[in-house]
Amino acid sequence: MKTQLLPATESSLALASRLLSEGQLVAFPTETVYGLGAYALNRDAVLRIFAAKGRPADNPLIVHIHDRSELDGICEVNDLALRLMDAFWPGPLTIILPRKAAVPDEVTAKLDTVAVRMPSHPVAMALLRACKLPIAAPSANRSGKPSPTTAQHVLEDMDGRIPLILDGGESDVGLESTVISLVGEKPCILRPGGVTRAMLEDVIGEVSLAGSILRPLQKGEKALSPGMMYKHYAPDGQVTLIEGEEADVVEAMRRLYAHAAEQGHRACVMCFTEHIEALRDCHPHDIGAQSNPSEVAHRLFATLRGLDEERMDVIFSEVVPPEGVGLAIMNRLGRAAAFRSVQAKDVL
Ligand code: AMP
Ligand code: MG
Repeated sequence: MKTQLLPATESSLALASRLLSEGQLVAFPTETVYGLGAYALNRDAVLRIFAAKGRPADNPLIVHIHDRSELDGICEVNDLALRLMDAFWPGPLTIILPRKAAVPDEVTAKLDTVAVRMPSHPVAMALLRACKLPIAAPSANRSGKPSPTTAQHVLEDMDGRIPLILDGGESDVGLESTVISLVGEKPCILRPGGVTRAMLEDVIGEVSLAGSILRPLQKGEKALSPGMMYKHYAPDGQVTLIEGEEADVVEAMRRLYAHAAEQGHRACVMCFTEHIEALRDCHPHDIGAQSNPSEVAHRLFATLRGLDEERMDVIFSEVVPPEGVGLAIMNRLGRAAAFRSVQAKDVL
């Protein structure tokens, strides 16, 4: 199959809309990351997503809508959900609600719940408006790879596998949506994202956090969000997180890098802009300013993908405090590192 990469224009949107209504796949930009879309109520179309991504069938998809009336055929909406929609839609918040029968089992991985979101990106909105269909869309990467934040990333993973990629520039947030479940006893964040716990609690009161956000699932523990599996978002090389006091971390990274390079590894460090100078001999990759976690979120996946392009095999990374957007960053970075971390003090 030949893959077209087209800027989002009136004519490419019309083509995308036609392909979706025919059950084909289209990758499109959202404010979180690029999505790989299919008509959500067409089983065969949805199965194409799993085939193109190499995604395990037990990992459910998010259904994207542009108008709340579309939810009537998809899920049961409750009062808490309405309050969250008023506050955060369109935007990077996915809500888990009881499903309706019209939604194919393939979308929900046979769960009795379904994930729904209204994106704010103008191209995503224009596409949803043009096709007037609910669109199931996971991130447009090959399964296990960092999510794509540019059309070029999508092409790297999906060339020859899908007919069309709409280019709408870089994704703004850079991390996938916050996923909140409203089907348990208490609202619970299954996946942290740009909409933080504090922002949610301002609107609906106490919100809990799923256990496995900053650690791997324990043996026998059930994944509330099947996508939060142990190793995910991972580059090919081995990532190690370096924790501790700022000055210790910088010095530990210098030593660890030197040791790895001596052993013949293609090594590098991922560090804050503020530390680039101190780490200039360590093949530094700038992850953004320590003082600006949104910038770190925005750059994270592109940085991880860049490591594969450079064929890096040993990577040492700084960490951010797991608060606010930092919680979402550490959730992804932790998985990229398969939760491998060292204390800087232990290296010095
Ligand atoms: P992706 O769009 O690739 O970021 O993946 C969608 C995310 O939403 C995955 O982490 C899924 O596990 C999660 N998800 C989708 N539907 C549900 C659901 N019904 N219950 C819990 N998590 C869900
Ligand atoms: Mg994904």
